[in-house]
Amino acid sequence: MRFRAVALLLGVLALTLVFAGSAWAAFTPGSPGLGDPFFPLAGNGGYNVSHYGLNLSYEPAGNQLTGTATITATATQDLSRFDLDLRGYSISRLDVDGRAATFTRDGQELIVTPRTGIHSGSEFTVDVGYAGTPTVVTDPDFSIEGWVPTDDGAFVVGEPQGSPAWYPANDNPRDKATYDFSVSVPAGLTVMANGVLVSHVTSAGRTTWVWHEADPMAPYLSTATLGRFDLTISTAGGVPSYVAVDPQLSTGNVLRKLPEIVDFYSSIYGPYPFTAVGVIVDSAKVVGYSLETQTKPVFDRVPDETTLAHEQSHMWFGDSVTLTEWPDIWLHEGFATWSEWIWSEHNGNKTAQKYFDNLYNTPAQDTAFWTPPPAVPGTPVFLFNGTTYDRGGMTLQALRAKVGDFAFFRIMRDWATQNRYGSVATPEFISLAERDSGMNLGHFFDVWLYQPDKPTSW
Ligand SMILES: [Zn+2]
Repeated sequence: MRFRAVALLLGVLALTLVFAGSAWAAFTPGSPGLGDPFFPLAGNGGYNVSHYGLNLSYEPAGNQLTGTATITATATQDLSRFDLDLRGYSISRLDVDGRAATFTRDGQELIVTPRTGIHSGSEFTVDVGYAGTPTVVTDPDFSIEGWVPTDDGAFVVGEPQGSPAWYPANDNPRDKATYDFSVSVPAGLTVMANGVLVSHVTSAGRTTWVWHEADPMAPYLSTATLGRFDLTISTAGGVPSYVAVDPQLSTGNVLRKLPEIVDFYSSIYGPYPFTAVGVIVDSAKVVGYSLETQTKPVFDRVPDETTLAHEQSHMWFGDSVTLTEWPDIWLHEGFATWSEWIWSEHNGNKTAQKYFDNLYNTPAQDTAFWTPPPAVPGTPVFLFNGTTYDRGGMTLQALRAKVGDFAFFRIMRDWATQNRYGSVATPEFISLAERDSGMNLGHFFDVWLYQPDKPTSW
């Protein structure tokens, strides 16, 4: 018996060592990026985020942002270490599951080593306390994004890589999460974040604005644009509507079209995907563009009706149905461009086919117009090139003419509803179009999306 007990003990010990050894060996670092062809370091491997809780305080006078980000995530591998994306800031505290973790910085990578490894499938929370001057990010096409100071606050936009300018994130469009925002600013300023307004409370000269985004959102679509705003809260399409306008601006009648635009796109693309609608009209011309920040697009000036419609259509195509990799940007911009045209057609103005015809008159020799093809922008410099918009929109109108209105509108609606809150790629759209139309469209899409020359037969 004695011998056997010793043997058993040795056996248990050996087994323990084997298990401990293999378990240790199995914990590996998450990758520093997700390998996007244009932004390989955007996002990180080894986990998915389910929720961001951002508790921020901003001082416009000195352009100082102080805050805590609480990130809830689930490990997708046995993690010894993982990265977040964060640009700038000093970090005062970094806890994983309530215990201080060690961290280092390497460019946009915040590299976190928890006290103990995190098992695959386990949920964990990361608390990051940080402070500093927010960053303005310059993109490969020289446009600016991130946290852009204005005369009365900040214009906050993140496409494609600006969100780490104001909070630590898994900054990749395929990792969507819900959000809570609590942002304190000097009294008199308004903070416009995504989702529904929960509260705004003023005390001791500061107002804390609390917003909740209940639907999955890609980090690049988050905002906390702030400044002096006239905020009108009403209802549109059965959900709360938040219209914020910089009092320096005169918007005329254009914003009154918002409910009608939402209703129209709901009628052709399926139900509005989110729990709030709205717009943020700021005076920030230095930015030079508007962006489809989720539930309430943000404009750097008073938009015209076409731009307003463009950004609203992105709620379906871009925000709810989102590209997996950035070179598929035509799935956002081509769809939003065609949406401008169908809004015009719906109102008895210029038809989508007329828009197509006018653009199609562009000579084949005008390579800057026709190249690069929409699904192959080639470089991030061309991410927002005209072809992803114009030739992307033309692709959809050509598809409409080829398969007929009945099949085409079914394709558009199915694409929006079947991929709601999802991540997509161009081949999936081609498959859906073939399925819904019953046609072989390989040649059609090759000519329109992948070949550099002006399409001549399809
Ligand atoms: Zn757009």
